Amino acid sequence: MMNYNLFIFALLSSSVVAVDFNYNDPDRDWCRLQGITTFCCDTFRQSPINIIPGNAVTEPLYTANPLTFGLGYFQAVSTGRYGNNGHTATYYPEDNVVREITGGPCGCDVYELVQFHFHWGDADIRGSEHSLNGNFFPLEVHFVHINRKYPNSTVALIMPDGFAVMGVFFYISNEDNDFFNGLDRLGRISNENDETNLAVDLMPLLRFVSSGTYTSYPGSLTTPLCQESVTWINFLTPVPVSSKTMGRFRTRIFEDNGQTLLVNNFRPVQPLNGRVLSTP
Ligand SMILES: [Zn+2]
Repeated sequence: MMNYNLFIFALLSSSVVAVDFNYNDPDRDWCRLQGITTFCCDTFRQSPINIIPGNAVTEPLYTANPLTFGLGYFQAVSTGRYGNNGHTATYYPEDNVVREITGGPCGCDVYELVQFHFHWGDADIRGSEHSLNGNFFPLEVHFVHINRKYPNSTVALIMPDGFAVMGVFFYISNEDNDFFNGLDRLGRISNENDETNLAVDLMPLLRFVSSGTYTSYPGSLTTPLCQESVTWINFLTPVPVSSKTMGRFRTRIFEDNGQTLLVNNFRPVQPLNGRVLSTP
């Protein structure tokens, strides 16, 4: 499990991509990075996008076979690893509980949670990767699931249905969100390659999203090599994050060894190229 997770970590967070990428790149066009010539950013189903729910098409199959969270999802994570890879803060459950989703945009396939990570900004008007009717949020979390029908991530990354990623937006609230208990201790992973063990309760977040509506579209990873292997599931109702927690994201985590704050780690929205948003 450890090796599998490390492999996923490497692929999804790009920590070992031959050429590193940087969110400070002026236009954040990963394709201009020297050495990346295939797959990345020059095809037609890239992510993130601007989500316009009013343009979404009702998909009857999403109602006939609704998006469902497996029972494991409702258990608190007893053991897991929280790390800083220089691009984001990522959490890897390591308690051997299977957290899966199926139905809805997943169809009859079952996708298993591998990790989740965050994208955030240095101000409340930016930070999320997706936008909603043109508006950005200060924070977005991505729950990355791999399609269980593929033997490993190497295969899944070249399949159009290799991964399902759930995105959730956050808005600034006066109240603390218990989901961030522990996850807001970013001082423990201040520097690149820092890791810490952490237990996390997913329920405070699931409580908000599991009954909420969503849109779905075919897209890609948002970091190099931007493989077009992701079914996106974007929940439309933002959930609260306290300004105290948001402040920690902005001041306690660095993309290196304490020199450069890690903020604004989002890719700009990409052209829709005729893709259709689907909704239940
Ligand atoms: Zn992400």
